[in-house]
Amino acid sequence: MDFGLSEEQQAIFDMAHAFGQEHIAPHARAWEAEGTIPKALWASVAELGLGGIYVSEEHGGSGLTRLDATLVFEALAMACPSVGSFLSIHNMCGGMIDKFASPEVKARWLPALCRMEKVFSYCLTEPGSGSDAAALRTRAEKTNEGYRMNGTKAFISGGGYSDVYVVMCRTGEDGPKGISTLIVENGTAGLSFGALEDKMGWRSQPTAQVQFDDCLVPLENRIGDEGRGFVYAMAGLDGGRLNIAASALGGAQAALDATLAYMGERKAFGKTIDQFQGLQFRLAEMEVKLQSARTFLRQAAWKLDTGAADATKFCAMAKMYVTDAAFDVANQCLQLHGGYGYLADYGIEKIVRDLRVHQILEGTNEIMRVIVARAMLAGRA
Ligand SMILES: Cc1cc2nc3c(=O)[nH]c(=O)nc-3n(C[C@H](O)[C@H](O)[C@H](O)COP(=O)(O)OP(=O)(O)OC[C@H]3O[C@@H](n4cnc5c(N)ncnc54)[C@H](O)[C@@H]3O)c2cc1C
Repeated sequence: MDFGLSEEQQAIFDMAHAFGQEHIAPHARAWEAEGTIPKALWASVAELGLGGIYVSEEHGGSGLTRLDATLVFEALAMACPSVGSFLSIHNMCGGMIDKFASPEVKARWLPALCRMEKVFSYCLTEPGSGSDAAALRTRAEKTNEGYRMNGTKAFISGGGYSDVYVVMCRTGEDGPKGISTLIVENGTAGLSFGALEDKMGWRSQPTAQVQFDDCLVPLENRIGDEGRGFVYAMAGLDGGRLNIAASALGGAQAALDATLAYMGERKAFGKTIDQFQGLQFRLAEMEVKLQSARTFLRQAAWKLDTGAADATKFCAMAKMYVTDAAFDVANQCLQLHGGYGYLADYGIEKIVRDLRVHQILEGTNEIMRVIVARAMLAGRA
């Protein structure tokens, strides 16, 4: 058992970290104020091979592992959790196409995805179904001209901004077995978007409803088999949850690093606040939280990479544990900055706002508990 990163993995982390510090961190607040991430950023992200991190090399991807991807997202989130997480959703779509689509569909979509000439969004949630995703109602009827899709997707990261939408929709019976996955390109007749959502965090990413009104999608845009869409969506989320956890970890680590520095400068009662043992103990507890979260996350990623039978359970456990730990640490860091933690100039309040949603999306942390408990009950002798 080896708990260290290989030289190559350390280089991946360092590369993503350096890129984030140079090209993302200086602009993160401005992009948040503008409510959008400049598309020009994605070309340089793609140049580093981060457009299709775990897409196979034959389709233009980097062919890296899920563990490698967690390093990328942890490092990028140290610059801005919102930007890093947005890229993680694009990568989740790439992973689903690479793993489940036919050779023709891969050849058609993956090269542009990896070059980030086309930015991808993932569309599962609907106004009436979030946690109970298998109850989705967006319907795609098969016709001679293609699938005719009607329905609404809610909370879509990149809604109206992205070029391509990976949409889970109903092509058959009620329940998970009646769901298929279709690729819908922006500009398709019948595709439209709701108003931008006004959110607590992740404000640099546009979030909007995605609407389909008799939207005609070519039959050849289906990923994999009809009726398997829910399986693909959930498989995408296994890795997605690792990425969302890694992004939370990076945000919290950045907050802790800033707090450690701040506590050595800020004085109260005649000494710097890092000299109060009560606060030193809090630093130690936060360090333990983040280090244990990191170890657990990497173990879950290793399970997914090696195809372990309990990988889904570990991805759910890691998502729940890491995102809860990261939010708690970021929030404590705000407290340790006193009033200054509440001011935007110190950078901590943005991290707290950004990290809150990591406990909610790609399956709420209550749903992570449902997955874990279900696996425990099923595994009883
Ligand atoms: C900023 C943002 C971006 C998002 N981006 C995307 C995206 O790109 N694509 C996408 O498809 N979705 C996206 N989502 C949607 C997100 O995945 C859902 O909001 C989430 O899955 C929860 O669904 P819901 O909001 O409908 O809550 P609900 O399902 O209505 O849940 C409400 C509450 O009930 C709890 N609950 C529900 N069922 C159970 C149960 N069985 N046991 C215990 N507790 C339960 C939940 O945990 C929650 O606390 C995004 C959401 C946000 C906020």
